[in-house]
Amino acid sequence: MKYIGAHVSAAGGVENAPKNAHDIGATAFALFTKNQRRWKAKPLTRENILGFKKACDTYGYGPGQILAHDSYLINLGHPEKEGLAKSRDAFVDEMERCEQLGLVSLNFHPGSHLGKSDPDTCLATIADSINIALDKTRGVTAVIENTAGQGTNMGFDFNHIAAIIDRVEDKARVGVCVDTCHAFSAGYDLKSEEGFEATWQEFDAAIGLNYLKGMHLNDSKKERDSRVDRHESLGRGTLGMAVFERIMKDERFDNIPLILETPDSSIWPSEIRQLKEFYGS
Ligand SMILES: [Zn+2]
Ligand SMILES: [Zn+2]
Repeated sequence: MKYIGAHVSAAGGVENAPKNAHDIGATAFALFTKNQRRWKAKPLTRENILGFKKACDTYGYGPGQILAHDSYLINLGHPEKEGLAKSRDAFVDEMERCEQLGLVSLNFHPGSHLGKSDPDTCLATIADSINIALDKTRGVTAVIENTAGQGTNMGFDFNHIAAIIDRVEDKARVGVCVDTCHAFSAGYDLKSEEGFEATWQEFDAAIGLNYLKGMHLNDSKKERDSRVDRHESLGRGTLGMAVFERIMKDERFDNIPLILETPDSSIWPSEIRQLKEFYGS
């Protein structure tokens, strides 16, 4: 089964997200469980939690079809004590919110060294941060997203992600989300058929396909290896539509949330319809 959706709005409360997903024809969705541009958030209320669970039931979304995304402010590889402590606290809070909502996956960007520590130290710090969060929570998997490698962001190379996972103690609760735009911007040739195959072989060799817990389906505004993170609507960017057809027809990407983060939300229904057609449903 292919679970296809988008990162939908949770404005007015998380309990509104499932209907927003249903309205665009999605069979999966992503959401922020709090305002993603703020450090602090009000705790989820009983109404939020029960409303969310009820709406998921009503519209037919199980935990395996939902990928929560953490705040953009969090940097689990922060080189400074204060920034790291703040990030770790906020991440544990995000994991706890997922736990309360019955969600099993929290997707996050690994972290940045900000030019103040070296890449290996940053990767080790990220792994330690994950260990702390997993220790304090239950049932939620920390899902590391590959990045485009903009600035000092780590995670653009599959080997970075492998190095993080290597240091995570509970390997059953760590996973990976591959963003197609980020992978292409980081230099992986997903566009050609041979490049697509080679990229997934590389992923499997470095990390292991068993760790793949979700994907972000985005075309890119920038060229391959640009190291710039700019999403484009499917088929309108430098990646082109063929890669998305390939993903839909490939069993390796069954049963995980496949999430659009494309810029024009008004065409999400047609993008989802197109993806479903490729898959043959
Ligand atoms: Zn993404
Ligand atoms: Zn991005």
